[in-house]
Formats: sequence, structure tokens, C-alpha cells
Amino acid sequence: MAAGMADAPAIRIDNLAKRYAPPKGAKGEAAEGKLALDGVSFDVPEGSIFGLLGPNGAGKSTLINILAGLVNKTSGSAEIWGFDIDQHRRNASRAIGIVPQEIVFDPFFTPYEVLENQSGFYGIPAKERRSEELLAAVRLADKRDAYARTLSGGMKRRLLVAKAMVHSPPILVLDEPTAGVDVELRRQLWELVTEMNREGVTVVLTTHYLEEAEELCDRIAIINHGKLIANKPTRDLVEMAREKIVAVTVAGGLASAPQHAAFSKVELTGERGVEVTYDKDTMNAGQVLAILQEQGLTVEDVTTREADLEDVFVQLTGAG
Ligand code: ADP
Ligand code: MG
Repeated sequence: MAAGMADAPAIRIDNLAKRYAPPKGAKGEAAEGKLALDGVSFDVPEGSIFGLLGPNGAGKSTLINILAGLVNKTSGSAEIWGFDIDQHRRNASRAIGIVPQEIVFDPFFTPYEVLENQSGFYGIPAKERRSEELLAAVRLADKRDAYARTLSGGMKRRLLVAKAMVHSPPILVLDEPTAGVDVELRRQLWELVTEMNREGVTVVLTTHYLEEAEELCDRIAIINHGKLIANKPTRDLVEMAREKIVAVTVAGGLASAPQHAAFSKVELTGERGVEVTYDKDTMNAGQVLAILQEQGLTVEDVTTREADLEDVFVQLTGAG
């Protein structure tokens, strides 16, 4: 499918805001309604696996639901595949397949029927439908004629992925696809997603799991309280985690936390444990240990770890 505008990103979000209507009779601050998105702007590059990361209540589903046409934005604009969601809603919808956070199915349809109905909804002629191919792609060929209500949670999730793809959109969006999904199913889902991405589909997924985003996504945007607080290639975001942590167990006890100007943080972890955070560009673990020993501590055990995205997130949001 050609983009509505040459060189347009797969998705463009510009100063998007959403204030939900207040509950009836709400007083005080609540009477204004919840500001779920507060002027968010970012682009999703074509061909990427883009992670929209943020804690529960950050505004991720609100943003996805605006793209899906399920929630009306308050202000700002959004383009999908070059099509403005207000001016070209039909074309915008045709360019995107969305797997919602909540699983909803009519329990009396079979997976095959679910896909056929959805194809009908998009006016896809019988000859051009991909129901069988998609069932095979999401490993549900053997469940073709089973009632949806008999499928496991993971199977339903995979069926939703197939359903989102019946009209062959160039963009696939998954809202918290692995929340409540076990490790094995999560792995299967990621294989499916990376496979589709390899075939050219731009993928957007929301998650509150940092590790997941770090492993899968080539670019990550972070939102918190409806505001965008980061938007970088995953590599750069991880690079921001310049800090390293040395955890040591000392002989005897620790009356107080050891201090040194070169340490960026020191934390006691029990009677004999201490964790020292340092900048790996300015010193190394050996130097940290030498300083501790100079201060009269006898080090018994040592482990080190790199700061991960979790630490970066804490740094960026000022939480923790
Ligand atoms: P996330 O998907 O990141 O967990 P949501 O977009 O679901 O976040 O929610 C963002 C904020 O908007 C939350 O405070 C949530 O309670 C609120 N919210 C979500 N949907 C509605 C709604 N329909 N009416 C009022 N407030 C809502
Ligand atoms: Mg959500």
C-alpha cells in the first residue's frame, strides 16, 4: 500500500491530548476529568518494532484507542500511513490492525468464522481472503472449527492477532499483548511479531515490561502521566544506563553506609550487604572494592550488574 504522503512515517502523533469527561457529580479536581494524554508527539518509523512503554495508567491504551477510532481525542492530530485520522478515517483504519488490550469474542464463533466475518467487515472478496493462511501463521490451523470460548487465553490472543491482519495492513499495533500471558506463550507471540516485522509490517506494541521492550523493540518511547518522557533508539536508551552496580557482602557488620565522592549512590541491603552505584566511564568495580577496603571493610562476596532499562526509567521518571 502506498503512503498517503511520500516519506511519511508509519504513524505520526502530534501534540495529542485527551481529557476524559468527569464522572457525574464529580467534585474538586475530579470535576475537570482525567487528563490521560497531555500533548504527546512522536513518529513511528516505517519498518520498525516500536515500543510504547509506561506504567499502568500512563495513557498507552488511550493513545492506541484514539488511533483505533474508539476514543475521541480532545486536541492534537494523528496520521496513520500518511492519512489524518479525522480527514481520512477510512484510509487510516485500513492501514492499521489493532489488537486491543481486552480480549472480546463472540463465544459461539469459530476462529475461521471470526476471520471470515472480519474480512466481510472490510469488504474483502471471498477469493482474496487470508483466513486459512492467517490461522496457520498464528498456529491455530487445528482450531479452525473450535468455538472461540473453548480456546485458551493465549490462543485467543493469537486469534486476535490474525483478526487484526485480515485486511493486510502495513501496521500492526498490539496493546499489552503479554499481560497475563505465560512465558511460553509470550515467546511464541514474540516470534510471531518478529516474523511479521521481517515481512515488512511496522509493529507498535505497548508494554509495562522494560525487558520485553528492550529485547524486541528497535525504538522506545516512554510515557508517564500522559506525557512523553523519552523517545530514542533502544541502543541509545540503554546507553543512558551508564551506571553500574557492585553488590558486596562484608565480614562483620556495617555500622553505616560507606561514603565516597566517586560513588553515585550507596545503599545498605541488610546487615552485611551494601550496593554501590558508580559511573562505568569514570571508574571500575576493582576501584570500588579498593575504596571499600581502604575504609576498613573486609569484602567477602561480590557481584556486579549493569543498570538496565528499569534503572533508566527510574532515572527519567524520578520514581523509586
Ligand atoms: P495505560 O493503558 O497506560 O494503563 P490508560 O490509557 O488506560 O493507561 O489510562 C490513562 C488514564 O486515563 C488512567 O488514569 C485511567 O484511569 C484513565 N482512563 C482510561 N479510560 C478512561 C475512561 N473511559 N474514562 C475516564 N478515565 C479513563
Ligand atoms: Mg492499557
